[in-house]
Amino acid sequence: MQIAVCVKQVPDTADIRIHPETNTLIRDGVDAILNPFDAYAIEEALRLRDRLGEATVTAVTMGPKQSEAVLRQALAMGADDAVLLSDRAFAGADTWATSLTLSAALKKLNAKIILCGKQAIDGDTAQVGPAIAAHLGFSQVSYLTKVIDISGDCLRVERLLDHGRETVQVPVPTVMTVVRELNNPRVATLNALRQARNKPIPCWTSQDLLLNAEEIGLPGSPTEVREIFSPEVRGRAEMIQTQSIEQAVTLLMQRLGQLPGEDRP
Ligand SMILES: Cc1cc2nc3c(=O)[nH]c(=O)nc-3n(C[C@H](O)[C@H](O)[C@H](O)COP(=O)(O)OP(=O)(O)OC[C@H]3O[C@@H](n4cnc5c(N)ncnc54)[C@H](O)[C@@H]3O)c2cc1C
Repeated sequence: MQIAVCVKQVPDTADIRIHPETNTLIRDGVDAILNPFDAYAIEEALRLRDRLGEATVTAVTMGPKQSEAVLRQALAMGADDAVLLSDRAFAGADTWATSLTLSAALKKLNAKIILCGKQAIDGDTAQVGPAIAAHLGFSQVSYLTKVIDISGDCLRVERLLDHGRETVQVPVPTVMTVVRELNNPRVATLNALRQARNKPIPCWTSQDLLLNAEEIGLPGSPTEVREIFSPEVRGRAEMIQTQSIEQAVTLLMQRLGQLPGEDRP
């Protein structure tokens, strides 16, 4: 059984800055990290491999050469192989073109169980996992919280809903997107990190995936971005700091014009 896990390199959003004039992300000096949700996807892929016995885990990413770093992180955690999808022709891809490109690679890998993070912390659309399932015609489970059992060609799993959890049975092949409640991702050992650094990672281009220029990258992206802007800051906040809650209430009432005078408390 071939298990694949899709991992994305993202800017560390703890340090996100927007250029005030161009309203684009300032990437200079911002650390690139493994999308946090993808660590849970890697961990679950490794656990599924152990439960299935005869299985292989391959990590896949689409991105520039430097995104190889997240593949090495997956290898250090225990993935058997990794594939980088990198080509100038992939640039400018929206979620449709990204998921189409990933799907072509996952098909080439003959992946039957595909794990993705719930969402990427930069794009935040949560569309790529479900879109891969649609492109490949696989079943899909979003917000996976537990793999209960695996029997024959089916998985019984639990998924998170807005107000509870749901148990569903899905046929394999399947695509599952994962949430943090699923597991605790393991920490790679120093030795594993060292070995992962030297492991060869094949790079597949659009030619390897038999994809035409019109269906990938910007030309293959139906999304049209009309405008990107930072939301206008409206109003202002004022912290009311007083000795007691009564004083704070009086001051607030005065500010709202419900009581005369401003300097009583
Ligand atoms: C018109 C347009 C042009 C764009 N141009 C660019 C561009 O030039 N450069 C650029 O970096 N971004 C570009 N983007 C953003 C890019 O489309 C998204 O980052 C990408 O499609 C993934 O969407 P997301 O980040 O919302 O992922 P989500 O759907 O939120 O991610 C969910 C999960 O899918 C998997 N996943 C997502 N992306 C990848 C990936 N690349 N490799 C492997 N697994 C993945 C991961 O498991 C992730 O946890 C563009 C977007 C639009 C709309």
